[in-house]
Amino acid sequence: MPSTTARAGEWPKQKIAKTDESAVATLIDVDACTGCGACVTACRKRSAALVPMPKLPIPMPKGTRVKVQDWSDRRDETDCLTPYNWLYIQSCTLDTPDGSRQVHLPRRCMHCINPPCVSRCATGAMTQNQRGPVSIDHDFCIGEADCLFACPWMIPRRQSGIGPYLRFAPEYLGNGQTYKCDFCKDTVDQGAAPLCVTACPTGAMHFGPYAEIVRRAAKMAEERDGDVFGYAENSGTHTLYVFSRPFRDIEAALLKQDGLGPGRPSLRPAGVAMARQNRLLRFVLAAPVLGAGLACLRVLRERNGGRR
Ligand code: SF4
Ligand code: SF4
Ligand code: SF4
Repeated sequence: MPSTTARAGEWPKQKIAKTDESAVATLIDVDACTGCGACVTACRKRSAALVPMPKLPIPMPKGTRVKVQDWSDRRDETDCLTPYNWLYIQSCTLDTPDGSRQVHLPRRCMHCINPPCVSRCATGAMTQNQRGPVSIDHDFCIGEADCLFACPWMIPRRQSGIGPYLRFAPEYLGNGQTYKCDFCKDTVDQGAAPLCVTACPTGAMHFGPYAEIVRRAAKMAEERDGDVFGYAENSGTHTLYVFSRPFRDIEAALLKQDGLGPGRPSLRPAGVAMARQNRLLRFVLAAPVLGAGLACLRVLRERNGGRR
């Protein structure tokens, strides 16, 4: 078994987390992606209405808590993931036996089968739908960003100066809200494919039942003697990528070409960010009154529907 991605022929024998029968997934064919950005445009059209502008001036947090992050004057940026940009085309030049080629990967939340961002969210704002999509309830997100640090790829992005924390003690608790791809949950709930999938002019993105998507990815990888990313990573995700060459080669090229960093996720399998301590838990232990407030928020959130 490979240490990172799954090579054709070596999977789907690998053990992954069990999914619900109604689970859905997407498959991204990296060989077919031209990097045109139509998917990004489609995503931004929807997300623009979902992310508010911050209240200025943004309250400055006391002590060494998470720093203020303000992307509101960079809302047009599309060359990385931001609170205003939930899908990003990660590109690099890859050396292959047939010469060099440009490779493009649309990157966004992987929608993990067992998402650590959900279990680490202190207010219960981050939830997973029975069918797999992971989303944030912005009535409850206070931007402590534990989801960001729990995520192996640090996908959620934070905007300060917005959300319910402003009503409580903004200098002491919370720091805005985090945002990320929500799998177009409203569209998918109505039985349609996510907007980025339908916008793709080359058919590089596929959507369907999880089991069918896994079978399709396996077949494509076998035919190309290729590689799959997302099947085993972080114990399995609802987003699979297929490519005719190993994903570790893309990761190496991205590293070499300075293509990784905040908002430009790696292709590491998982685990790096998981080793971090739960900063919020430490904070809550040190501040029982605020901890009680957080607990109330979580209870309220769970009463409001919990997992949905
Ligand atoms: S990729 Fe990160 S943000 Fe998305 S579900 Fe997995 S852990 Fe959560
Ligand atoms: S699934 Fe929806 S929210 Fe996620 S990247 Fe695609 S268009 Fe954006
Ligand atoms: S629309 Fe399709 S081809 Fe264009 S960047 Fe997105 S996935 Fe790639």
